[in-house]
Amino acid sequence: MQDTQVAGALATTAAELDAQDELAFLRRRFHLPDEEVYCESTCLGPLPVNVPQEMARTVAQEWGRGLLSSWWEAGWWDAPRRVGDKVGRLVGAAPGRTVVGDSTTVQLFNALVAAARLRPERRTLLAPTTQFTTVRYITDSVARLLGLRVRRVAPAELSAALGAEGDDVAVLVHEAVDFRTGEAHDLAGLTRAAHAAGVVCLWDLSHGAGVLPVGLDVHDVDFAVGCTYKYLCGGPGAPAFLYVNARHQDAVDQPLPGWTGHAEPFAMRDVYHPAEGIDRGRIGTPSILSMIALEHALDAYEGVTIEQIGARGRSLTGFFLTCADELLTPQGVGVATPREPQSRAGHMAVRHPDAEDIIGRLRKRGVYADRRPPDLMRFGLHPLFCTHREVLRVVTEITEVIA
Ligand SMILES: *Cc1c(COP(=O)(O)O)cnc(C)c1O
Repeated sequence: MQDTQVAGALATTAAELDAQDELAFLRRRFHLPDEEVYCESTCLGPLPVNVPQEMARTVAQEWGRGLLSSWWEAGWWDAPRRVGDKVGRLVGAAPGRTVVGDSTTVQLFNALVAAARLRPERRTLLAPTTQFTTVRYITDSVARLLGLRVRRVAPAELSAALGAEGDDVAVLVHEAVDFRTGEAHDLAGLTRAAHAAGVVCLWDLSHGAGVLPVGLDVHDVDFAVGCTYKYLCGGPGAPAFLYVNARHQDAVDQPLPGWTGHAEPFAMRDVYHPAEGIDRGRIGTPSILSMIALEHALDAYEGVTIEQIGARGRSLTGFFLTCADELLTPQGVGVATPREPQSRAGHMAVRHPDAEDIIGRLRKRGVYADRRPPDLMRFGLHPLFCTHREVLRVVTEITEVIA
């Protein structure tokens, strides 16, 4: 086929897929630019339309008028747990297993130490070589703190490592989705392999939450953490979440025992006695304004299941592959994201030695994406609002810029 015929056929397919899309209405729940294509939910999700008025109300009424009483009367005190349950619905967690607060980095530290303390006789933390910076730094620091060693192997070798040397591994710490390539790892299979070796697993869901079904309860995951300002659109610096499996909750001994996680926070005891259940995952006073923004941002997910969202996302990433096969492969440009639907998540990654320059030029053409050194460009295709037409436009613009 001629190039123009290829482009025409892809445009027809995009229009058909968008016309059949039963979730197209979700796009209206976000403030999005008219002409630009926003593919940076890998770093910061866009603003949901209902958040500004809810924030204005919270500030004027709850803070401005309610003052201290708002901790009780406006439900601020219960917000970490209430908003935690709202995130929990999207990661397959029953109520009472997820709490929101602090940053992902802090939650990782807390969860990793707590997980390692469940296996005091074991000396190893197992992780893939592909760890995101903050996960790597925290893993190394926790190992130093607790006198453990860190063993890193290629993601494909983790199962074998668990089988061969799992009896010395305290914790497997892993990201559900690779921040570079967008590969969705086998959370269910690795969790099973870890449990067979008596290993506790801690999953960082930062690039998976709100994009695909992770099924924390179904897969019996021990601990999980994740950030809420990427696909969950909770706003800049929105608080992270912590999930703790019900069977561990009463055994959790977290290293940052703040007063709000105490069984009787207002009794002002001299000795820390943790609250029952997920409340012991609380640390200090939560950042209420950010948490309220997140609470209302999550309304963008109302009325749809994470399975529906995951299917819509796979349609977008699959169409990206179709477009890339037709338009990028002939230019010698490779896609770094795996092809199998179950191995794709929210973003598609494309390799090119001039990634930085290309991303800069795409921006001038109205396509907002980001890059990761040395040669990766990331295109976050948010499953709530991105369209197939936009996917085609993105791939077409990449092709033109490279040409
Ligand atoms: C984005 C991201 C984080 C974010 O950590 P912060 O403490 O919020 O800066 C953590 N882990 C992973 C895997 C991420 O992708």
